[in-house]
Amino acid sequence: MRRLEESIEILEDYLEKTYDVDILYEFGEGNTFSSNENYNDKLITINTRHKPKIRLYCMLHEAGHAILRASKEKHCSRFPSLSKKKQTIAHRVDVVREEIIAWEEGFDLSVKLKMGLDRKDWNNYNKKHIFDYIRWSFDPKEYMKTIYS
Ligand SMILES: [Zn+2]
Repeated sequence: MRRLEESIEILEDYLEKTYDVDILYEFGEGNTFSSNENYNDKLITINTRHKPKIRLYCMLHEAGHAILRASKEKHCSRFPSLSKKKQTIAHRVDVVREEIIAWEEGFDLSVKLKMGLDRKDWNNYNKKHIFDYIRWSFDPKEYMKTIYS
């Protein structure tokens, strides 16, 4: 296995060169991928509060979003309901689909970049995140109550 810090540097470099994504490290913020409505100005924000392994896993997941959103046309045809009204079942299902596929894309990218990650450990880490999205999709209002109460 590569050193985690080395993998993070390789990933950072790859994302900048291949997908024109900037990486921003911030203490205490969540991990996010964002872009403007034309899918430009791509930015991945990484929470530096986490240890390197979690930072790498989250960065790979956000990279998965960057890969899925590399082409606006392809992304919109693959997930047509993301732009529709929130709270509809179609919208929620597309959110969950994109989240799961972004984790898969992230792992595939780690293989491509020869990081030698442990698939079991990866699955074990991302299951909580995926399950949270599944819970949210079932009943968003109830889910928000459990989070903010
Ligand atoms: Zn995500």
